[in-house]
Amino acid sequence: MAEQESLEFGKADFVLMDTVSMPEFMANLRLRVTLGGMWRVDQDKSSHNHACGRDWRFEKGRIYTFIGEVVVSVNPYKVLNIYGRDTVEQYKGRELYERPPHLFAIADAAYKAMKRRSKDTCIMISGESGAGKTEASKYIMQYIAAITNPSQRAEIERVKNMLLKSNCVLEAFGNAKTNRNDNSSRFGKYMDINFDFKGDPIGGHINNYLLEKSRVIVQQPGERSFHSFYQLLQGGSEQMLHSLHLQKSLSSYNYIRVGAQLKSSINDAAEFKVVADAMKVIGFKPEEIQTVYKILAAILHLGNLKFIVDGDTPLIENGKVVSVIAELLSTKADMVEKALLYRTVATGRDIIDKQHTEQEASYGRDAFAKAIYERLFCWIVTRINDIIEVKNYDTTIHGKNTVIGVLDIYGFEIFDNNSFEQFCINYCNEKLQQLFIQLVLKQEQEEYEREGIPWKHIDYFNNQIIVDLVEQQHRGIIAILDDACMNVGKVTDGMFLEALNSKLGKHGHFSSRKTCASDKILEFDRDFRIRHYAGDVVYSAIGFIDKNKDTLFQDFKRLMYNRVSLMEISNPVLKTMWPEGKLSITEVTKRPLTAATLFKNSMIALVDNLASKEPYYVRCIKPNDKKSPQIFDDERCRHQVEYLGLLENVRVRRAGFAFRQTYEKFLHRYKMISEFTWPNHDLPSDKEAVKKLIERCGFQDDVAYGKTKIFIRTPRTLFTLEELRAQM
Ligand code: ATP
Ligand code: MG
Repeated sequence: MAEQESLEFGKADFVLMDTVSMPEFMANLRLRVTLGGMWRVDQDKSSHNHACGRDWRFEKGRIYTFIGEVVVSVNPYKVLNIYGRDTVEQYKGRELYERPPHLFAIADAAYKAMKRRSKDTCIMISGESGAGKTEASKYIMQYIAAITNPSQRAEIERVKNMLLKSNCVLEAFGNAKTNRNDNSSRFGKYMDINFDFKGDPIGGHINNYLLEKSRVIVQQPGERSFHSFYQLLQGGSEQMLHSLHLQKSLSSYNYIRVGAQLKSSINDAAEFKVVADAMKVIGFKPEEIQTVYKILAAILHLGNLKFIVDGDTPLIENGKVVSVIAELLSTKADMVEKALLYRTVATGRDIIDKQHTEQEASYGRDAFAKAIYERLFCWIVTRINDIIEVKNYDTTIHGKNTVIGVLDIYGFEIFDNNSFEQFCINYCNEKLQQLFIQLVLKQEQEEYEREGIPWKHIDYFNNQIIVDLVEQQHRGIIAILDDACMNVGKVTDGMFLEALNSKLGKHGHFSSRKTCASDKILEFDRDFRIRHYAGDVVYSAIGFIDKNKDTLFQDFKRLMYNRVSLMEISNPVLKTMWPEGKLSITEVTKRPLTAATLFKNSMIALVDNLASKEPYYVRCIKPNDKKSPQIFDDERCRHQVEYLGLLENVRVRRAGFAFRQTYEKFLHRYKMISEFTWPNHDLPSDKEAVKKLIERCGFQDDVAYGKTKIFIRTPRTLFTLEELRAQM
């Protein structure tokens, strides 16, 4: 069978719903066999396999597979010619099963639901670092841009352009080269695209989650800080660098020295221009862009500040750097110096300046650098939102404003060393899995009820118990961590672990050396283990307290707000980034929320938002750790299939029906198969006609008849119907 023929209907690329075992699933992802739409996972002697030989889907660029409406995507690590105009045309307006699995099919399904049924929809993209989430999200956005605004309205074109351009700005500031991915997103992103009643994009909104700000001050060997720093140093003009007191040499700056010599595929100088242009197009004002560069420069200079100890007290060794930082942050050198060396504390009615130890001063400097970058990033997102948000949309005139949300968020992480960040990320994945369970089951159930089809209960692991373990009030890990952080006096990570042991020792999904001495996986006393739905993860408690408290001395906030500086040199852009700096020391009473609680709140809000929308899923798989287009590492993929819960996904789908269609549409497509329905039927209803047709083909055991739709359990039946149709 010719390649093109098998593309006609896409039957080659479905995961069969009767796939139950991991080897079968893996083979489906990798192997493609065309004839009869059947997978041949074994290298058997069938005549067809002899004719075709072993046919590797991955190597051939067949990277997409459907599990029901879920698209599984394997990163091809090479440019594929499957996203162009021709492909867009193939998918535009088609039903999901009419074309081979593709991101565009999902994007189109989400778009159609939004447009035809006025439903808010969302596309959730998940997978581990380097699996292709961000690329997928961009292709989805490109697809939506390509199929909308047929009348070329200028305003809509402008909005589309901005939405697409916002990606490159966010990537410059939020992405970095890591050992896993040269362009790794170090933040979670959820973007809403708003549509008018005609189905054209009229604006959007971005939510960002947990930027990995520790990267600003330190990176693993082989990794880099955020792209923005290198872009500025490599792409900024000499004059610009001079005005920022910067030199081109990356190794001159402590904060980015680790990755200075790394060779990468990234062209920072060229990207600098692309990003600068994008910021202009989006509508950043020149003085805002200037402030962005000044902040980046100030951070680089901060990293070069050294403290020396003179007697008990630390001093700044390189005072000139302080002046530079002050100039860049529009403040005064003595104020920067004071914020770095002292801390203002209120004791009773007195306000005193308490001098830092050298350790505290270094800690403060790094915390300051991280915070400035984080605020910068959040401010950039806010600015983009200001510009792209829908304004003045009158629903009474224009009808409902509908939304497609695209979620590109960190996947489940298991590293050799797992810390607070992995804990947050994995908790996020538990929340999303819980949502998946609820939505898939809920939606299916609702449809079956609506159509009057009996619902069969399926056994699946409900991970709510792990979500509770993490987020439950008073008893969850986050609550216990917050309690520990609230204690006055020196609280250690060890004390936090003790508290976990005593409160959660009996929980089936928690263990530590203390609670389970025989557990050999827990190597160190400081470790604890959570049994996640996607697998066991051992976390080191070290650093949890510190990262959760996320202390930034108030002095820095006031410094940045410039409350006490001369008005003429204060920078309004900086001020907006540090609103709480306007409070004086005596006014600051409330403890800021901890990092984990902030994250938890943002996750709860995210899940509520997603739950209100009709969901579509893209599950991304990374085929190997070498970024190679040739290697399909079975073991690595198997692991991902496992923890993405794909088999579970198949099981959930299997318990239901793979395909459903209204009787009318079904007849329209297949009526030629049976003499009872071709060219027209004389039965009392379309439903009766469909029944007759199905019985004629002998599929009655694989279908159920709802009020308005026929439900087909396995795609195999559908494929056969397609073949019968093709033979007519
Ligand atoms: P992270 O969690 O680290 O952000 P990610 O899942 O977002 O990872 P991407 O940045 O989307 O991963 O993909 C990593 C790299 O893989 C891309 O830079 C690109 O080189 C390649 N890649 C991913 N998807 C595709 C695709 N569909 N076609 C070609 N190359 C791709
Ligand atoms: Mg990414």
